[in-house]
Amino acid sequence: MAEIYTGIKFNYKSLGKTIIKSELLSELKNWCAFFNEKNLAPPYLGGSSGNLSFRIKPGTINFIITASHTALRENMPDSDFTKIVSYDENKNLITGKGTKEPSSESIMHHIIYKYKPEINAVFHGHSPEILKFADQLKIPVTKKEFEYGTIKLAKEALKLLKTHNFIILKNHGFISLGKTVQEAGNLTINFLNNCKSINNE
Ligand SMILES: [Zn+2]
Repeated sequence: MAEIYTGIKFNYKSLGKTIIKSELLSELKNWCAFFNEKNLAPPYLGGSSGNLSFRIKPGTINFIITASHTALRENMPDSDFTKIVSYDENKNLITGKGTKEPSSESIMHHIIYKYKPEINAVFHGHSPEILKFADQLKIPVTKKEFEYGTIKLAKEALKLLKTHNFIILKNHGFISLGKTVQEAGNLTINFLNNCKSINNE
């Protein structure tokens, strides 16, 4: 899929450039560094990388997500994260707070938190290894391909995420869900380790 990264594909309304603070943020940052270290979010489509988020409070759809066009790495500053407070599908409008625009896949994260109230963490990466071994690992793969960052892609993903917590977006990347940040991270590690054992067989 030769799709070029062209930035976010939703309208964005900023409620202010406040730097986001949250107790869980340092935990998320550790997983961002892990994603970078394990090549789970290599430079993609000429600029984007993976995007990780967590729900701020159960019962709400407010979440904190990596900012758009932000490489995952060690010691990311708080300014690399944006808080999302709403998404209006009719206007294709995301509203948030932070110093940068939120990840281009913010719609996908939003729709997952909306329809899966038990899920509190969403990790999305682009591991060539995991994609390669999807069949052998029996990971469900979306049927159709859609452009990154669109509501169509988000809805296609949701079809499988209703019954699975780890899926592949066809020819694109993976999504890992958890009740906690730790759980979404551990699920990713499991599949990555399984790839490594196939490689070593
Ligand atoms: Zn992606």
